[in-house]
Amino acid sequence: MSETAAASTPLLPEYDVVVVGSGGGALTGAALAAKAGLRTLVLERTPLIGGTSAYSGGACWLPGTEVQQRAGLPDSTEGARAYLAAVLEKPDQDRVEALLAQAPRLVSALEADPLMEFEWIPFSEYYDAPGRVPMGRSIQPKAIRRDELDPRVGAILRPPVERDRAGRPGRSTLSGGQALIGRLAAMVLRDGGTIAVGHDVSGFGRDESGRVTTVLATGPDGPVEVRATRGILVAAGGFEGSPERRSLHGTPGRAEWSMAPRGTNTGDVIDAAAAIGAATDWSGEGWFCPGLLQPDGSGTFTLGFRSGLMVDQTGQRYGNECLPYDRFGRVMAAAPERTPSWFVFDSSEGGRLPAIAMPEGDPAEHLAAGTWVQADTIEELAVAAGLDPVVLTATVERFNGFAATGVDEDFGRGTDEYDTFFASAGSPNKALVPVAQGPFHAAQFVLSDLGTKGGLVTDASGRVLDEGGDPLPGLYAASNSTASVFGSAYPGPGAPLGAAMAFASLAVEDMLR
Ligand code: FAD
Repeated sequence: MSETAAASTPLLPEYDVVVVGSGGGALTGAALAAKAGLRTLVLERTPLIGGTSAYSGGACWLPGTEVQQRAGLPDSTEGARAYLAAVLEKPDQDRVEALLAQAPRLVSALEADPLMEFEWIPFSEYYDAPGRVPMGRSIQPKAIRRDELDPRVGAILRPPVERDRAGRPGRSTLSGGQALIGRLAAMVLRDGGTIAVGHDVSGFGRDESGRVTTVLATGPDGPVEVRATRGILVAAGGFEGSPERRSLHGTPGRAEWSMAPRGTNTGDVIDAAAAIGAATDWSGEGWFCPGLLQPDGSGTFTLGFRSGLMVDQTGQRYGNECLPYDRFGRVMAAAPERTPSWFVFDSSEGGRLPAIAMPEGDPAEHLAAGTWVQADTIEELAVAAGLDPVVLTATVERFNGFAATGVDEDFGRGTDEYDTFFASAGSPNKALVPVAQGPFHAAQFVLSDLGTKGGLVTDASGRVLDEGGDPLPGLYAASNSTASVFGSAYPGPGAPLGAAMAFASLAVEDMLR
């Protein structure tokens, strides 16, 4: 892999804008900066661009735009404001308003480019709250063929997670996060920007006036130092890949269970900014999810359970398995006996997990590794999983009783729009399907995440603030490198990317002032 993907020439000593990281926020900032005529450099530590954003579904929670209008949705900025007011705890109202105001402007600016087009993606929002749009308000970039983009992009685009983890190349049609990253990177290159992969940023320097002007990185040929005249945008993920930082900041889960690509997001760049005076706030924790334990010890993001039930190590259910994944993840994190959990399911889907796991893995390999167990009866299944057969049998019988009546008396599964979004088989309640058809299966689940979301404290313009609450001139941040505008909530599909893109674009607008 070439060290500088987009430029065969060495890096220049100076750019107008230097962007650290290459996820959805980073490349939105870079694309807008390059389009505005700024000399733009993207520094990415791995040989591939896109990070977790390239694994993503590409959904963007950007309310009140022309895309929702085109789709005829009952969405509006006012509705989104009401929704956030109901679901966020102690929000920074300036940042919330900045996000709401920027979403339509950003989408309009991006769609003005022939390389970008969005569409509505039906996907329920995560809370039953005022302002919620039925079937969701999130948008995604339209799929695009790889060969429609600059070939230099295709050469460095991180493949979807199931292919990346298996060492396989990406697909010829790019959809979701692949389309988002591919389209944005193509815009950067077309407008003269440089994307330098294999450049690990380790520090920042300030000039005599205190302005942050210098980025220090290690490239394939050793240390490099580049100056930025207009601004430096840090959008380099969270610290999900660092066991030490997770432990330091009290983040539940484990680095190996996180979804971030291996070798990407370890939070060093957040600490590098803190080392020159940036304030930090770790309280947002992460975007959590149940993670299917894999034979290699990793966890994989799982959502949309169609049947089956989750039990803890005592063999009892502890929540509504059909909750939005972040909310179920938080329930999972609430008690130690819930990790690992066992997800019990029957053979109605031929021994495959009745859910969307990214990736699921091979059931035979799971069975061989013991991450899944299988048996003809629930009692035998319990023994194979190390659970109490009497308790597990009672749990399954109780659950099957709920499936018969259509009412989950314990956790209310199937009462919310999200619960039934992926489900279809249950009757009288779509989300409640009896566990009836042997052989029976149990799969181990751990607490996974789609990234952490504590980090640099920023203002409504994406400016990084110091401990005194003043902007550090020249330094901006967005994405999971920042303390999330949503705090500990995950309002709906596309919240991570939507916020990252909005604040990256606000940062570039500020640099242009
Ligand atoms: P990333 O996208 O991970 O990018 C960070 C990049 O910075 C990485 O490439 C990394 O190598 C680089 N980097 C890190 N440190 C340095 C350094 N020191 N120097 C240089 N480069 C560095 N979210 C949504 O909003 N919508 C969805 O549809 C969605 N679907 C998802 C589906 C899956 C399967 C997964 C796993 C996640 C999904 N998410 C989704 C979550 C979302 O993808 C992430 O939370 C988000 O993309 C993180 O963006 P980021 O820019 O913070 O980090």
